[in-house]
Amino acid sequence: MPLSLPALDRAHHLHPFTDFKALGEEGSRVITHAEGVYIHDAEGHRILDGMAGLWCVNLGYGRRELVDAATEQMGQLPYYTTFFKTTHPPVVGLAAKLCQLAPAHMNHVFFTGSGSEANDTVLRMVRRYWALKGKPWKQWIIGRENGYHGSTVAGVSLGGISLMHEQGGPGVPCITHVRQPYWFSEGRDQWPEAFGYACAAAIEERILALGEESVAAFIAEPVQGAGGAIIPPESYWPAVKEVLARYDILLVVDEVICGFGRLGEWFGSDLYDLVPDLMPIAKGLSSGYLPIGGVLVGDRVADTLIEEGGEFFHGFTYSGHPVCAAVALKNLEIMEEECVVERVRDDLGPYLALRWAELADHPLVGEARSLGLMGALELVDPATGGRFDRALAVGTLCRDISFSCGLVMRSVGDTMIISPPLVITREQIDELVTLAREALDETARRLSLPFACIP
Ligand code: PMP
Repeated sequence: MPLSLPALDRAHHLHPFTDFKALGEEGSRVITHAEGVYIHDAEGHRILDGMAGLWCVNLGYGRRELVDAATEQMGQLPYYTTFFKTTHPPVVGLAAKLCQLAPAHMNHVFFTGSGSEANDTVLRMVRRYWALKGKPWKQWIIGRENGYHGSTVAGVSLGGISLMHEQGGPGVPCITHVRQPYWFSEGRDQWPEAFGYACAAAIEERILALGEESVAAFIAEPVQGAGGAIIPPESYWPAVKEVLARYDILLVVDEVICGFGRLGEWFGSDLYDLVPDLMPIAKGLSSGYLPIGGVLVGDRVADTLIEEGGEFFHGFTYSGHPVCAAVALKNLEIMEEECVVERVRDDLGPYLALRWAELADHPLVGEARSLGLMGALELVDPATGGRFDRALAVGTLCRDISFSCGLVMRSVGDTMIISPPLVITREQIDELVTLAREALDETARRLSLPFACIP
């Protein structure tokens, strides 16, 4: 059962992505402090944070250097706007560092306060770019079904989560969604590579249906994170790149989750050899210690906006917040000093892949996959090998059980996701896998499945 602090937050605090009525009845878990890869709740439980907060806390909790960077900057200049052609050292330093780490053709960054704001910025930059190029008819943006790009109206519109569309009413016009390269869910009747080609072909079909001159951009994550840690077949990205090049369509690679080491490279784009025109970033940029996001802009778009654009009427009060920028810069410096990305690529990622794959022998698990330090388990009904009846909400059950066992796993439908801090050790990966298995066993027991005879 979730822990609760009676009345403390029930009355006032509406949580994101939460059934408000259930929240009122059950209360919330109260997290009081954290250290390394562990969070602690108000009732004294220590829980391994298998989700790094919400794909954020890459350097783990309790990093004194980040606290010091914030404190120092807070004392020196807590806030000043970047609206009046003004700037400050941490933002200048962060911009330079980001452009050094990003793919070579990305030499500009526009700062925002979050990933959602970054995607709003993307939308406006794409439209502005084509208008400046004298092709205002290039209006359509293609996203993917089940994709997530934020919770603002633009973010929801770019994303393809149908429930979000239904609940929010009409979104931004001229955005459409194509099938995602989700082999386990949608492609098991084909070889993965054939399925990857089919998903890329679906993009081309949509382009032709809309009119080959009318598509402005395609937006996707390298590996779809919030949708269920969906690793595309090898054939997918090369085929997509070809399609986009054929119709001169901008590529927007949402690196909000995949960026900053999650997949064992600085950016997921590096892993798949992508050449993005725009790259929204957030989350791991500051290891989640303070809210900051941005859009890395490739030369093609930047040169046009700079040379031909005049004033760009767009910006946020917290675009380039000095304290957030100071923390983000320190975060990236520590990641470099401690070779965090290389360790994920060469050691921790392969080790997780080995250990996580062992869970595939569990009767509830239809597939166990991982890449870098992102992993997923597909829960299936052992009687049929197919999905459970959705009404059973097995994923939610497993998530809550897992929390009680001492591990944060996220559920998206019946897909369980992990994305632990990048500073996790091999021993802690062992612990994570053990706890995940306990959660699976307990879930099976609660479902009264016949094989659940584990003592
Ligand atoms: N893009 C992706 C891929 C995300 O996962 C998220 C957040 N989960 C966002 C954008 C939105 O970021 P934020 O919550 O910081 O607005």
